[in-house]
Amino acid sequence: MSGVGKGVAASSIAKLLQSRGFRVTAIKIDPYMNVDAGTMNPTEHGEVFVLDDGTECDQDMGNYERFLNQDLSGLNYMTAGSIFQSVINKERNLEYQGRCVEVVPHIPLETLEKINRAGEKAKAEIIITEIGGTVGEYQNILFLEAIRMLKVKHPDDVALVLVSFLPLQNADSELKTKPTQYAVKTLNSTGLQPDIILARAGTPLDQKRKEKIAFNCSLQEEDIISAPDVKSIYEVPINFEKDGLSGRILKKLKLRPRKTNLQEWRKLAKTVEESSEPVNIGIVGKYFSTGKFVLADSYISVIEAVKHAAYFFGKKPVIKWLDAEEFIKSPENLKQLSEYDGIIVPGGFGGRGTEGKMAAIGYCRENKIPFFGLCYGMQLAVIEFARSAAGMKKANSTEIDEKTPYPVIDILPEQKKNLEEKKYGATMRLGAYPAELKKGTIAFEAYKSQSISERHRHRYEVNPDYIKQLEDKGLVFSGTSPDGRLMEIAELPRNVHPFFVGAQFHPEFKSRPLSPHPLFREFIRSSIDRKER
Ligand code: GLN
Repeated sequence: MSGVGKGVAASSIAKLLQSRGFRVTAIKIDPYMNVDAGTMNPTEHGEVFVLDDGTECDQDMGNYERFLNQDLSGLNYMTAGSIFQSVINKERNLEYQGRCVEVVPHIPLETLEKINRAGEKAKAEIIITEIGGTVGEYQNILFLEAIRMLKVKHPDDVALVLVSFLPLQNADSELKTKPTQYAVKTLNSTGLQPDIILARAGTPLDQKRKEKIAFNCSLQEEDIISAPDVKSIYEVPINFEKDGLSGRILKKLKLRPRKTNLQEWRKLAKTVEESSEPVNIGIVGKYFSTGKFVLADSYISVIEAVKHAAYFFGKKPVIKWLDAEEFIKSPENLKQLSEYDGIIVPGGFGGRGTEGKMAAIGYCRENKIPFFGLCYGMQLAVIEFARSAAGMKKANSTEIDEKTPYPVIDILPEQKKNLEEKKYGATMRLGAYPAELKKGTIAFEAYKSQSISERHRHRYEVNPDYIKQLEDKGLVFSGTSPDGRLMEIAELPRNVHPFFVGAQFHPEFKSRPLSPHPLFREFIRSSIDRKER
């Protein structure tokens, strides 16, 4: 089922095999008919992750990149929609040479072709492919069929791992194995038998349960791997290894084990375990609630980037969600912001919550609370500055108010047409773009480099007509596109504010556990300073 941890399981398997010296890549298959994740609402599907090549994809791709410390490409991500689209395109181009094109075999075959291409591009010895969804539903059946075909052709080169959940009715009862047994039966009906079962549960699996699952699912006990809840996802690979997972997989794939090197990863997990001194970060946003639940998944990369930076300083990241709309309901609520060591305003779309976010940004600016704006967060910081410091009352983004007297944030010229023609899918300014940094700024200090490359996902930008006015009032554009046309980073000088920085791009997508993003690192450094002061 969704949320059971398939993404982290796939990433961890990838990490373990990589740590044993194999060249590994990871692929995600999303069963949705959406061609990519760019058109999905984050509260429903989680964060939209962006790759260097501009692919808008599932958040699991972020986990793969972070665990493998690798940049992946669009070939590593597919949805049902994208596979259907390429089959239909091929049919239109007569590439099937007059043959009847059918869902089976053509959809599975197209899937396999793409898996193969991704493997070749990454020069991978092992490809981890995660199939989203639940066994037994219609949505992923064609992808399971693809794996069945692959296994028939290459029986020794395919190992199947089933991630299954074991419920616990109450504290006194036992973990229930029946759902897992039924999942395996259902999987068997597609012609597949798992080689390994990852038993997800609140607690580790006892020997009795292992025996039960193994016996009823036609497996050996060593193939049932305990996957209990852990404090941090970085412990997951280490935990799997306690049950010998990588060795089992290599055995199934008939690959000779190589020497393991999980040193750095173990060190990281130890830091996570041992860091106790908190750094308190508030994230002001709107994509939080679904019914009664808070869905932090919408900002998963932001959370991870904060964690990487906090662990870098040996601190314990404590993140709190602050609903932007609360700051408008009662401005008194703004005072809460002083309790935090630093405030982040992340990316977003549309008008809802923006006045609240700007109120929060203004409060951070005036009270010298470290502030970090990501994409929309940067745009809103520029608007807030225009209104409060540059006398442009009612300044706004044309995304929020088309008739604003001061459109300090405006649509990119090349984007106007897309919206008029209702071309929404994969048409934003997407993926990696270079930027140049100004010497003597926070940005330059952080990156220690003049040229950078960062990932984007937006349609609007700082309006060039207002740059001079904003600069005259003290806002510094410390990063721009190489031609100087687009403002990529805005900041206030250190003598005015300890850390007030906004990035037009999404730095969170490039932060890695063992190498935190430079801007997140400096933001957290300032937050720790504030706390210590
Ligand atoms: N809505 C803004 C834009 O399109 C910001 C997008 C974002 O935060 N990713 O420019």
